[in-house]
Amino acid sequence: MTIVKPGGVIGIIGGGQLGRMLALAAARLGLKSCIYNDGADAPAFQVTPLQINAPYTERALLTGFAQNCDVITFEFENLPADDLAYLASLKSMRPGPKALSTTQDRLSEKQFVRGLGLATAPFAEVNSASDAAAALRALGAPAILKTRRLGYDGKGQAKIESADAAAKAFASFKGAPSILEGFVDFAFEASVVAARGADGAFAAYDPPENIHENHILRRSIVPSRLTQAQADEAKQIARAIADALDYVGVLAVELFVTYDGKLLVNEIAPRVHNSGHWTIEACACSQFEQHIRAVAGWPLGDPTRHTDAVMENIIGAEADAWESLAKGGALHLYGKREARLGRKMGHVTRLKPKK
Ligand code: AMP
Repeated sequence: MTIVKPGGVIGIIGGGQLGRMLALAAARLGLKSCIYNDGADAPAFQVTPLQINAPYTERALLTGFAQNCDVITFEFENLPADDLAYLASLKSMRPGPKALSTTQDRLSEKQFVRGLGLATAPFAEVNSASDAAAALRALGAPAILKTRRLGYDGKGQAKIESADAAAKAFASFKGAPSILEGFVDFAFEASVVAARGADGAFAAYDPPENIHENHILRRSIVPSRLTQAQADEAKQIARAIADALDYVGVLAVELFVTYDGKLLVNEIAPRVHNSGHWTIEACACSQFEQHIRAVAGWPLGDPTRHTDAVMENIIGAEADAWESLAKGGALHLYGKREARLGRKMGHVTRLKPKK
């Protein structure tokens, strides 16, 4: 089993805010981070001198990256499967290619979750316009058409009200393999962020309630409205998924909570997650430190929450108000130059003593 000692190098694929916060957490543990990002303007490049700017398919540079790291992990996991396999052949990769390939594809992800006996929204595979129309008739309206790959923050998704609209939406995705999901009339959304160590140890954070606006996470709130029994069930769901994937690192499971109290798995993120940012201030060991500990083969840290917290994303031009935001809580700005519409520029976490 690979153990990265202090002074060792964690290779991180992806240089966004998640990579930046991972690198900061690694530094605190005396570990270095090497960031590999496709594009020079990466928030994580600002916090570590070890960096490679190249396409994710550039074999020679992937090789050099692997040679300079002691272990490889991800903040951006959507690499082509053969590049993932190539990286895994060069260096210990945590999480491994199986976890990444299962969760990259919404269809294989949902089939995997169902195979564990866990509940999801009803879904059907869609490979043609006529599949889309037939799936809508079978599942009923409304429904959501989602591309199987590369969707995030509502991209590659369309709400569908009729068979005709289903066929049209499939055409607008340029025929990309998709799934149709029944629309869940949920009471609220929650997530569970958890870690599995290289030795199989497991630690989960309190599941936050998540509020989305325009398909983007607006805020995460702990404690959530989940009952203790539901919170325990959410942690068990994360554990079943992490064990079955032989997972090493932090993962997040997004959940729909129905009006009759059921937890449905929406999506698995094989990485640290926006809904876990509050752990930086409200827990003994943040999700970022936890991920670094897990991938470095260290003992997991203590996920206990010691304060109540509300984490709010700072989106687009909202970052212009940084002076007033700085007065109101723990402010994180990601160092992005351009405040594009819908872009996550930072977040602020407001703490209250635990009730
Ligand atoms: P996703 O990209 O699958 O995480 O979806 C983004 C957001 O769209 C979710 O957090 C929900 O707010 C909403 N959403 C996705 N799928 C469904 C569904 N089947 N029913 C109702 N809302 C959904």
